Amino acid sequence: MSGLTGCLNLGYQPIAFIPLHLYMPLHDDGYVKYASQWTKTALLKEDFEELIVYRNKLAGLNLIGIYPDQIGYGNISQRIKQTTQFIISGTQTGQHKIALPEHFCKVTDVNIAQNKLLCEGPVQASSEAMTHAAIYLADTNVNTVIHIHHHELWQQLKNIVTTTDITITYGTPEMANAMFDAVKAIEKNKLPKIIITAGHQEGVFTFGSSMKDAYETLMMFYHEHQ
Ligand SMILES: [Zn+2]
Repeated sequence: MSGLTGCLNLGYQPIAFIPLHLYMPLHDDGYVKYASQWTKTALLKEDFEELIVYRNKLAGLNLIGIYPDQIGYGNISQRIKQTTQFIISGTQTGQHKIALPEHFCKVTDVNIAQNKLLCEGPVQASSEAMTHAAIYLADTNVNTVIHIHHHELWQQLKNIVTTTDITITYGTPEMANAMFDAVKAIEKNKLPKIIITAGHQEGVFTFGSSMKDAYETLMMFYHEHQ
């Protein structure tokens, strides 16, 4: 080593300035943020064949699926008639193109203020189950909630249709409260039953009194914004 090199080596690396947006993740991590009390059980006794059919249709369109980094996205749920309970696709099940009954879970109770959720089934509920719960609580006529990820749809409809604030992230009580308010506003103003989550990348929710209703609302926007 020459004397000159030794003299110039100050023992630290040059600082590289990298624009902040390069550090931002392209999508959320999909992990459950609420306090979940999950009772692992055998297959659910309820009949939810229709839910599986629609879930698999959405997976066929890549609206429910898995990112290249193995993080699952999208979920779907169905209210158990005349109750506040619902059946929802399980967390990290997006890799299955064809879902089976063992990939679903029943949400039996939620407390949005305390961010607590009780569920039972062969898998744990989706990380966005609390958001689904808020929609069911806001409108007793809602029997289905669909949540998909689609970049173009999200980008084009953001702030055009009902949109939750960019500061609100997925799976939080803030998101649940924002969803509750959004559903109430949609009802009051007779707006289309679709919500964009500006603070949850690529996130689109639709809901309706039946599986067909929620799916058709989604497809109407999906075909218009391809
Ligand atoms: Zn999502």
